[in-house]
Amino acid sequence: MKKHFETEAIRTQLDQSQFSEHSVPLYLTSSFVFEDAEEMRASFADELDRNIYTRFTNPNNQELIDKMCVLEQSDDGLAFSSGMAAVFASFAALLKSGDHIISARAIFGSTHALFTKYFTRWNIPTTYFDSDKPQEIEKLIQPNTKMIYIETPTNPGLDIIDMEYLGKIAKKHNIILVVDNCFATPYLQQPVKFGADLIIHSATKLIDGQGRVLGGIIVGRKDLIDEIRPFFRNTGSALSPFNAWVLSKSLETLAVRLDRHCENALSIAQSLEGNIKINWVKYPFLESHPQYEIAKKQMLKGGNIVTFEIKGGIKAGQAFLNQIKMCSLSANLGDTRTIVTHPTTSTHSKLSPDERERVGISDGLIRLSIGLENIQDIKEDIEQALAKI
Ligand SMILES: *Cc1c(COP(=O)(O)O)cnc(C)c1O
Repeated sequence: MKKHFETEAIRTQLDQSQFSEHSVPLYLTSSFVFEDAEEMRASFADELDRNIYTRFTNPNNQELIDKMCVLEQSDDGLAFSSGMAAVFASFAALLKSGDHIISARAIFGSTHALFTKYFTRWNIPTTYFDSDKPQEIEKLIQPNTKMIYIETPTNPGLDIIDMEYLGKIAKKHNIILVVDNCFATPYLQQPVKFGADLIIHSATKLIDGQGRVLGGIIVGRKDLIDEIRPFFRNTGSALSPFNAWVLSKSLETLAVRLDRHCENALSIAQSLEGNIKINWVKYPFLESHPQYEIAKKQMLKGGNIVTFEIKGGIKAGQAFLNQIKMCSLSANLGDTRTIVTHPTTSTHSKLSPDERERVGISDGLIRLSIGLENIQDIKEDIEQALAKI
């Protein structure tokens, strides 16, 4: 019988070894041995379901994949060395020269760099749509459109894209819908329910949740994973078993961590509303969010990212960062520690001012990745910094 999310995240685990351990051990081994020549032959012929070499499979990696498949209600998956290795493989293994991608304009910077710096060279063009106008998408579809790519909520604009709508469009035109679910995690939303074919994660963020390891995951339709698998094995982007072990343990606490992350983030967002030093605050579960209804439809809670626009542009944004006492100035997100970022002068500084405006990044935009410290301490730090601007 299928159990609840929290239970699956804890109880989906490898079979015990001969030592009857309670917590799954770490299998740091690059290869595996065979009883005889026949077992070796059958293993290489894919007649046996067993480990051969850690670039292909490893017990710790398989546990992480099995868990993510259950949590994302997906058939099959692969574990990569980083989120970007997973993103890259999803395109490179499935597309060929002449294919066309439709992507949301607001996507992770390195994903955008793949589209503009490399796929253009390989004759795989990308057309963008604005995250707040998914209805535009149908006009953009061409006979060679093979893939629709989105992140929701978007980074750092926090637009919410209607996955149910996109799922229908993708199905109607037989296009693969890929969702980077890094900001929400499977606890807050399961894109498969809305028609996504592949779900990608940077496990580096909320899945690890403590800023320790890199990792990437693809889960989804079995036929597509089967197509990506040989590319994955031949190009050597396997996740380290150590990282897989850390990430699988992290998933055991994902639900309780996310509950607190979201509670803290909502509280911060509410407390910032009306602050005289800012123009606006954005959070998916604030009623003032333009896609509040869609967020409620597809997300369990609002996530841990809050953005606001400080009055006074770049100077005020940097001054705010300089007044922060406890929170970390970092580009990472989804950590136990609250992180403050000024995208215009850091993560998104390579975009032109015009490009930044189109993805909703104004000069005074501040991104908060709300952590798990006591809410009063997080609030006090942000409020005292704002008061000094
Ligand atoms: C961080 C991130 C990635 C890339 O993940 P890495 O693990 O850093 O390679 C991809 N997509 C989103 C939305 C991210 O936040």
